[in-house]
Amino acid sequence: MEYTAVIGLEAHVHLNTRSKAFCGCSTQFGSEPNSQVCPVCLGFPGSLPVLNRTALEYAITVAVALNCRVQEFTKFDRKHYYYPDLPKNYQISQYDLPVALEGFLDIQVDGKVKRIRIRRAHLEEDAGKLIHRQDISLVDFNRAGVPLLEIVSEPDINSPQEAYAYLTFLKSIIEYLGVSDCDMEKGSLRCDANISLIEKGQSGLGTKSELKNMNSFKAVKDALSFEIERQSELLSGGGVITQETRLWDAKGLRTISMRSKEEAKDYRYFPDPDLSPFTISQDTISRIKQSLPELPREKQKRLADQYGLSDYDAELITSSRQLADYFEECLKGYANAKAVFNWLSGPVLSELNSRGVSISGLNISPEQMVELVKFFQEGKITNLVAKDVLGQMIQSGKAAADIIEQNGLAQISDAGSLKKIIDQVLEENTKSVGDYKAGKSNALMFLLGQVMKKSQGKANPKTVADMLKTRLGGS
Ligand SMILES: [Zn+2]
Repeated sequence: MEYTAVIGLEAHVHLNTRSKAFCGCSTQFGSEPNSQVCPVCLGFPGSLPVLNRTALEYAITVAVALNCRVQEFTKFDRKHYYYPDLPKNYQISQYDLPVALEGFLDIQVDGKVKRIRIRRAHLEEDAGKLIHRQDISLVDFNRAGVPLLEIVSEPDINSPQEAYAYLTFLKSIIEYLGVSDCDMEKGSLRCDANISLIEKGQSGLGTKSELKNMNSFKAVKDALSFEIERQSELLSGGGVITQETRLWDAKGLRTISMRSKEEAKDYRYFPDPDLSPFTISQDTISRIKQSLPELPREKQKRLADQYGLSDYDAELITSSRQLADYFEECLKGYANAKAVFNWLSGPVLSELNSRGVSISGLNISPEQMVELVKFFQEGKITNLVAKDVLGQMIQSGKAAADIIEQNGLAQISDAGSLKKIIDQVLEENTKSVGDYKAGKSNALMFLLGQVMKKSQGKANPKTVADMLKTRLGGS
């Protein structure tokens, strides 16, 4: 029997407002535990919540960018459950009148565009955080009340790859909007998935499991792949899927049953009497619509057109808004887009990846970066040296010109100096010289490498190659 996976995703995004959703406490991450709390977010009797206007504006901003219908009338509800990190014993959330409904995202997988519908997006407050130590558990309420936007997709996703593409694109849009840092390590972006299988060619939904505890998009992909295997084996063997919540075990690479899945009616939702309903005017919606920044796909298309980048290159450079902005800032000082792109997408990106930082984390201004690009484009230093200079700029914060000057890194192009090095190399490598003369053309690359090594990467490789060919005669 062949099955089709039917997947729906719920993304929880921390909105980066300065204060919490319903009180004035700071949302600063990493502060002393329980230092950012007050009677409202601790649920003291008699305290009253007041909605953070910015949180609502951010929610509308995301809704508009995700092509949702923003509701003109929205309200908050209490979702009841007991958990030690939930001091009120209910969470302020939105039930039947969420801030946004019926949007969509067009994702790209294997060169094909697929539309994933978004069912709803609603605003709610986060819970606190439990910290488990050997035989005790501690609770930190700093996170209790931080505004969250929950974005729920329709079950339009049919493979782990599509889920990955959806989440990556969603994250990119939210980062472009600047309303969340989407940092999964800090828990600013969390994701749950619902998955069921149906027989190929059928429609509808099977009995689903809900997957939780996935800390990266890769984990989501892995957990879904595992679950597809598990469910199809069970169904093929005549088994029955039980509706339940399962936890992703990243070490064991499997999902584990946690509890049978509760339903909406279990939460006893009712309108929060402390928060009157809100109306969102058409003026507010159009104002927010007009102030949306350029979004990833628009930027990608514009950069491709404006600077002659391939679609692939444009996608790479717009994968982060910061990087795309940085690229354009660089071009203000140096119009050679291809050179700047190659430099940023090569050595710079590899520095970012190995250091695990974003471009701002390098502390190199676009002007300083362009100075370095010009140095090797104009032949003052070799590409090899340029990479070394980049490393030193990151380490020391010094300008490229100073590093080159102080370390004598300027490229050697004059024939006199190069001849001396070449003489030495030819003398020390008579075998390779013989090989080359006998027709082994890659011996030339070896000799060139030796010259580069002896010059500490400073010899002009093109001049050296020309000189070597002339000296050795032939091809
Ligand atoms: Zn508070």
